[in-house]
Amino acid sequence: MSEAPRSYAPGVYGLVGGAVNLYVLDDEAGVTIIDAGLPGSTKRIVDLLRAIGRSPSDVKHILVTHADIDHVGSLRPLVKATGAPVYASAETQRYIKRRGVPPHVRFPLSLVSRVMVLVIGGGIKDGQVVAGGDRLDIAGGIRVIATPGHTPDHVSYFWERERVLFAGDLLKHGQRAYPVTPGGHMEPGRYT
Ligand SMILES: [Zn+2]
Repeated sequence: MSEAPRSYAPGVYGLVGGAVNLYVLDDEAGVTIIDAGLPGSTKRIVDLLRAIGRSPSDVKHILVTHADIDHVGSLRPLVKATGAPVYASAETQRYIKRRGVPPHVRFPLSLVSRVMVLVIGGGIKDGQVVAGGDRLDIAGGIRVIATPGHTPDHVSYFWERERVLFAGDLLKHGQRAYPVTPGGHMEPGRYT
């Protein structure tokens, strides 16, 4: 284990930095992972779980904010390792199942994403569809909030007990927020 786990709130740990932005919520009833990182992130996630005294079998839920490759890249191996169900919006579930790349991802990143997704994506049959207004019976209650902006189908997850918002790519720490355009697509050329 090369990285000491950083706690962002009671029971909340994360792998944050570079293009990876995922969180682990450690509750007595089990572990919830929010987003799955780039392809090849599974070992780092498992290392993080071990560092907090957990194992992949403790993971009971995987919540996905949107279908960009840096949020679903390790989803398939993560599901395989944990057996946990995947929660995402209907649109995001479609991209996950069809190994698709959301339309806002522009060339040449779209080409890279498509190749990555074809190689490592898909293979997840039974997802749980969530929508804004839903309340998930996870860790005492997690509310689903529709947050179009970064992508039209982007959702955020609000953990009621500790009042923590898992906002995916809706906001970018330390920099200006991603631009919002009508329909929820980002401005051309501003994608990072
Ligand atoms: Zn994104």
